[in-house]
Amino acid sequence: MQKHDARNLHYDIRLSIGGTLKSWAVPKGPSRDPSVKRLAIPTEDHPIDYASFEGTIPEGEYGAGTVIIWDKGTFENASEDDDGNEVPLDKAYEKGHLVVNLEGEKLKGGFAFINTGSRWLLVKVDDAHAVKDDSLLDDEPASVVSGKTIGELERGE
Ligand code: MN
Repeated sequence: MQKHDARNLHYDIRLSIGGTLKSWAVPKGPSRDPSVKRLAIPTEDHPIDYASFEGTIPEGEYGAGTVIIWDKGTFENASEDDDGNEVPLDKAYEKGHLVVNLEGEKLKGGFAFINTGSRWLLVKVDDAHAVKDDSLLDDEPASVVSGKTIGELERGE
């Protein structure tokens, strides 16, 4: 997950599915509070190696602004149909009901990506990693790679 200070600050969550990075831009960022639904706007697929990008996209280029790797890790598919059978990731994505268990440095446990028909929502699954009134975004603003915040990276600290 990248934190991206472009025209509007947002978080880009990217999942490696089928050899590409399926991507959503989450304007308000993820929440570990299951009662909070966050708008997740699908964006274009990115190549796998983009997940390790941290730095500045020059003025005039698409997405111009500063990017840090806010979180990284692995995930497992936890998508199931109504009968409790596992649904493959690509099918779950197509159906618009994708559930993954994250094993990140900051984010852990289940997160659901739900396509309501008009928009995608990102919602924490109510599990042992759920946190009421979550303040993670404020508490841990820095990159898990460089340890820098977006501001520190922009100022070259
Ligand atoms: Mn972005």
